[in-house]
Amino acid sequence: MEQHPSKERTLVIIKPDGVQRSLIGEIVKRYERVGLKLIGIKMAIPTREMAIKHYYEVGGDAWLEEVGRKARENYEKKGLQSPFATNMENGKAIMEANAKYLSSGPVVAMIWQGNQAVALVRKITGSTEPLSSDVGTIRGDLTLDTYQMSDLDQRSIRNLIHASGNVSEAEKEIPIWFEKAEILNYTHLQEKILYDVNLDGILE
Ligand code: GDP
Ligand code: MG
Repeated sequence: MEQHPSKERTLVIIKPDGVQRSLIGEIVKRYERVGLKLIGIKMAIPTREMAIKHYYEVGGDAWLEEVGRKARENYEKKGLQSPFATNMENGKAIMEANAKYLSSGPVVAMIWQGNQAVALVRKITGSTEPLSSDVGTIRGDLTLDTYQMSDLDQRSIRNLIHASGNVSEAEKEIPIWFEKAEILNYTHLQEKILYDVNLDGILE
C-alpha cells in the first residue's frame, strides 16, 4: 500500500554554527509550529568520515558535479571566473570544506515527519546562501554569510542547517544518522486536527 502523505520524513541537522549561536530552540520551534512531528533527535560530534559519508554516499559523483556546477554559476553571476578547472574539482573542494565544517563541533540531528515534510522544511529553512535566503526563513533571518566571504576565506558557507533535498535523499540520509530503535513511532495529538478526515472528536 502507498504510504499516506502525512508519513513523509526528512532529515535536518543543526550545524555547529547553529549550536554555537544558541539557536537550537529557535530552529526547533520553527519546524514544530508548522505542524511537523519530531520522531528522532540527538546531539553528536560527527567525525570527518561521517560527514563525508553524509555528503558522498548519498549524492555520489552526481552531487559533486551538481554542487560544482552551481558554484561555477555563482562565480559567473558575479562576473568572476571559477578558480577550479572542472565542476568536479570544485565539488570535491566544497565537500571537503563541508566535512571540516560539520565535524568542527556538536550538531543536532533530527527527523521531522508530516505532509510534504521535505519541501516544507526546505521552505522554512531558506535557500543555501544566507544573504539571498528569503526574510522569514531560518537562514534569511538568523545569519549573514555569503559565498563571496566564504570563498575569500576558503571555507564552507555557514548556513546553520542541513535539510534533505528530496524524499529519496532523506531516505538515504536518515539511516546514516539514526538507528531504527532511535526513530519513534507515536501519535501526536495535533495530527487529529491536521489530518483527521471527519474532525468528529471536537464537539461534546
Ligand atoms: P543545501 O541543500 O541548501 O544545503 O545545498 P546543497 O545540497 O546544494 O549544498 C550542500 C552544501 O554545500 C551547502 O550547505 C553549502 O555549504 C555547500 N555549497 C552548496 N553550493 C555551494 C556553492 O555554490 N558554493 C560554495 N562555496 N558552497 C556551496
Ligand atoms: Mg542539499
